[in-house]
Amino acid sequence: MPYVLPGGPPKPKEGALAPPPRPPGADEILGECRASIAAAKAKYDEVIAGTAGTARTVANTLEPFNEVAMNVANAANAAQLYREVHPDAKVRDAATACEKEVTTFSSELLLDRRAYDALKAVDVSKADALTQRFAQVTLRDYKRAGVDLDDKKRARIKVIEDEVTDLGQKFQKNIASDTRFIEVTDPKRLDGLPPDWIAAHKPDAKGAIKITTDYPDYIPFIAYANDDELRKQLYIKFRSRGDAANEGLMKQLLALRLEKAKLVGFKDWAEYQSDDKMLRGAANAAQFIERITTLAQTRAKKDLAELQAAMKAYGGRLQNVQPTAPGTIGDWQKSWLERQVKKEKYAVDANVVRQYFEYNAVLAGLLEITSSIYDLEYRPAWDRRTWHPDVRVYDVHRKGSGDPLGRIFLDMHPREDKYKHAAQFGIKEGVAGKQRPEGALVCNFPNPRTASGPALMEHGDVVTMFHEFGHLMHHILAGQQAWVRQSGVATEQDFVEAPSQMFEEWGWSYETLSRFAKHHQTGEVIPKDLVAKMRRAEKFGLGLQTLQQMFYAALSLEFHRVDPAKLDQIATVKRLQAKYTPFPYVEGTKFHASFGHLVGYSSMYYTYMWSLVIAKDLLTAFEGPGLLATATTHKYRDAILAAGGTKPAADLVRDFLGRPSDFRAFEKYLTTD
Ligand SMILES: [Zn+2]
Repeated sequence: MPYVLPGGPPKPKEGALAPPPRPPGADEILGECRASIAAAKAKYDEVIAGTAGTARTVANTLEPFNEVAMNVANAANAAQLYREVHPDAKVRDAATACEKEVTTFSSELLLDRRAYDALKAVDVSKADALTQRFAQVTLRDYKRAGVDLDDKKRARIKVIEDEVTDLGQKFQKNIASDTRFIEVTDPKRLDGLPPDWIAAHKPDAKGAIKITTDYPDYIPFIAYANDDELRKQLYIKFRSRGDAANEGLMKQLLALRLEKAKLVGFKDWAEYQSDDKMLRGAANAAQFIERITTLAQTRAKKDLAELQAAMKAYGGRLQNVQPTAPGTIGDWQKSWLERQVKKEKYAVDANVVRQYFEYNAVLAGLLEITSSIYDLEYRPAWDRRTWHPDVRVYDVHRKGSGDPLGRIFLDMHPREDKYKHAAQFGIKEGVAGKQRPEGALVCNFPNPRTASGPALMEHGDVVTMFHEFGHLMHHILAGQQAWVRQSGVATEQDFVEAPSQMFEEWGWSYETLSRFAKHHQTGEVIPKDLVAKMRRAEKFGLGLQTLQQMFYAALSLEFHRVDPAKLDQIATVKRLQAKYTPFPYVEGTKFHASFGHLVGYSSMYYTYMWSLVIAKDLLTAFEGPGLLATATTHKYRDAILAAGGTKPAADLVRDFLGRPSDFRAFEKYLTTD
């Protein structure tokens, strides 16, 4: 029986329900956000005051502190969400303003010695394990922030934090605003590019066709253009963005990070940054990078041989071929060669695939599958006010239960001034007895309401939908804990992607796809051999991609382990590129100047791969019984998702697998087709 999208189109007739309330305006958003900050401040005063004449207890100190954290999160979450999705610019500005206020408040909070002393004074020796863990993790966070340093050092940390934020913003802005371009006067030199791309790039009055380093230009150009000289020119421009100022900014940023790490008792930033993560210690991170690099060698060699064979076979299609060192392939040639091999050897017609992924059917399939494997029900909540009429709201229930577990908002389609990527946003962190968890998916998938025909999705978008929904499930199912620091996705930062990376498999496996991936006209289930072909194509180039990732990981780690005064940034890039990848450094490029992850991820770019290793290991539990067997999925739901941050992530994984996590599954994934 086809699964009916719960509450999906058609919406209830006008008059059947009260009309959907109008979206909240700027005054209300700012008012709500400031009310949360005020509530946090009031609870904070309670924490500091304690109960006169009596000892510090869980009830008079830890519990109000929990509510401080809950209210701070409410303010910060709402501000971040509205800043990214609200259609009204006034609301987005109000949200940005409130986000600043809440950031200021929470950074003051973490350096306030009075709160730290109050929390430290609570005797938790007789409290339950979760309360003890909450106290311990909170005190650790305070110490990491530098709260137990003297006044002078704390003041210095405050200055460092502000400067680091400022430098990071400047670094990112320099990348975003540094759009470079090449000009082509001979239209024949666009040979190889898709006709719609060429049609969108008309010559100007002087007859010049401008091709920029922005992604919609750069990505197709580097993959399709047959003109090797132009591709190399654009590649050099692309990999030079930010270089006017960003090396200098990075030098200052690294120095400040090192200073902070030393102030709070660590050897360097990489040690400090990894200290509260699963993969602890910079030496372990370096070892991890080496281990993955070794594992990837065989496949990478095969990939490279395939690219070299492609150069022999299809090199004749190139124009203005650029010289490379003997036996090597230029970094600017890689995408083009990959595209040739994919076309000739792993051909999957995206237009054929798309026919099986109509948006409403995909969403219905995703809801049906999660409802079945996690024993949930999605009930539409049309009365809820949202920021845009396209947003769908559901209350998530355990099957047959009156009380909802939480609420989800699906903002799935593009519109002007909306966030351009795909992400899960927490709205409310669940705190048992205080508030239910709420979360939103913010994506950019085709819109059935505005599409001229059926809203067909790329398979990549289907996988993205499953990935992001994995975060949402984690947020809701884990949002039933009493302590906010253990609720939702409040787990180690290098574990948080693992459940979502694992859940991508439900968007790839024939077992799950066959439940909803049906041809939108004929109803035919997606053919099994088409899925197999899609999977083979997806894995082509995995060895080289893994090495490229390890190059970036090593770069982000090494920048944060070396004395910034002695760090030669460009020499490090050249050395590491040669060490990890078979593609020689191209003169004139300064990749690190536009490596934005150096701001957000700092030393921890390797965490993407680390969580993927765990994701592949988690997946082994489903190998025999399949992805839909409830004995396994319920165990997974309880041991990993619902457990949230109640235990260290390594313990959650061990609880679920019945053994510590290891590399075997990842090794198999990397070495087999
Ligand atoms: Zn994710």
